[in-house]
Amino acid sequence: MTDRHTPNSITAFRKRYFPGAGAREWNDWRWQMRHRVRDAKGLERLFSLTEDEQAALQGLNGAMPLGITPYYAALISRDDTRDPLRKAMIPRLGERHALPGEQADPLGEQAHSPVPGLVHTYPDKVLFLVTDLCASYCRYCTRSRIVGKGTLPTARQQWEQAIEYIRNRPEIRDVLISGGDPLILSDARLEWLLTRLRDIPHVEMLRIGTKIPAVLPQRITPDLARMLKRFHPLYVSIHFTHPSELTKASARACSRLADAGIPLGSQTVLLAGINDDLATMRDLMHGLLNMRVKPYYLHQCDPVSGTSHFRTPIEKGVSIIRGLHGHTTGYAVPAYMLDAAGGGGKVPINPDYIKRREGNVWILSNYRGLEYRYAESVDRPTNA
Ligand SMILES: *Cc1c(COP(=O)(O)O)cnc(C)c1O
Ligand code: SF4
Repeated sequence: MTDRHTPNSITAFRKRYFPGAGAREWNDWRWQMRHRVRDAKGLERLFSLTEDEQAALQGLNGAMPLGITPYYAALISRDDTRDPLRKAMIPRLGERHALPGEQADPLGEQAHSPVPGLVHTYPDKVLFLVTDLCASYCRYCTRSRIVGKGTLPTARQQWEQAIEYIRNRPEIRDVLISGGDPLILSDARLEWLLTRLRDIPHVEMLRIGTKIPAVLPQRITPDLARMLKRFHPLYVSIHFTHPSELTKASARACSRLADAGIPLGSQTVLLAGINDDLATMRDLMHGLLNMRVKPYYLHQCDPVSGTSHFRTPIEKGVSIIRGLHGHTTGYAVPAYMLDAAGGGGKVPINPDYIKRREGNVWILSNYRGLEYRYAESVDRPTNA
């Protein structure tokens, strides 16, 4: 856990910038939602903006919306323009420049959407986008084409079509509820949705993908945890970006979910100048394990229009995974994934420890780069 953001520095931020709010308001997730930073004026009040940031904020209309919860804003340095969370949340001019090869929808989700809000590219699992709203908007979002735009079906009767699709396909045993951020929905709407999905006999596991424990941990109330607990096996994948997000508040949120018996995994996007070095990534993975979150995926940043300033060479990710594997517990090593263009699915691009093969002998390398040989038995018992 970082001590940069002790509850005291967050409290000092609240008293300075939100003097009308007591601890009670601050810890109320709906208050946090209502007081989000939504425009240039709001940002200027909290941060000294660079020229680049100011220019990027002009005429943001049409692009991804701006939104930062007061809690998350408190984690961002006021003056340090290299602050990693700042780069993730405050627009820079780079997002105006779409490079050749970039696309609004690089994963071809739209093309693989049999009914609105549902993406079906793998045989036995579906991605169910239930809202396009988030508590805070990450500038590198893979779904920047839809977040905050109000185009996804989000009313209950609009969800029926997707539920019906799942009900009619017995091969679907895994439903990943995502968005936007599904935990932005009220307890009642989430409960309705989970009940309907649990009702389908062939749906074995339910999953929720969210960034809420990092950007709005106040949302993880005891009531929410108690409600979610009734829908096991339910997994939650949490989008974490940087060790600065690992505060006491986010630890408490994860703890409430873990205590409800929910297995927690993390998903992190590899981002240039934000988390693309071994020390930062190691701190993040260790910090997550301390919060009972198992690092699940490290994602290569997708070629979404206007995100070139966030992307790193693939070699960077491979070397980070190399620096983790063997050097620390295997629990701290996520799988490094690249999402193939146009709905090809996730491709693992972990480092290669197989050097070569000589007949039945495999020449392998360990984490220190030393060579080892493993001979497969050639004469397998035929009647075993
Ligand atoms: C990532 C993704 C999933 C979930 O994949 P897992 O590897 O099982 O976590 C499901 N559907 C789509 C379309 C996805 O992009
Ligand atoms: S929380 Fe997820 S869906 Fe929302 S803006 Fe960030 S990456 Fe996109």
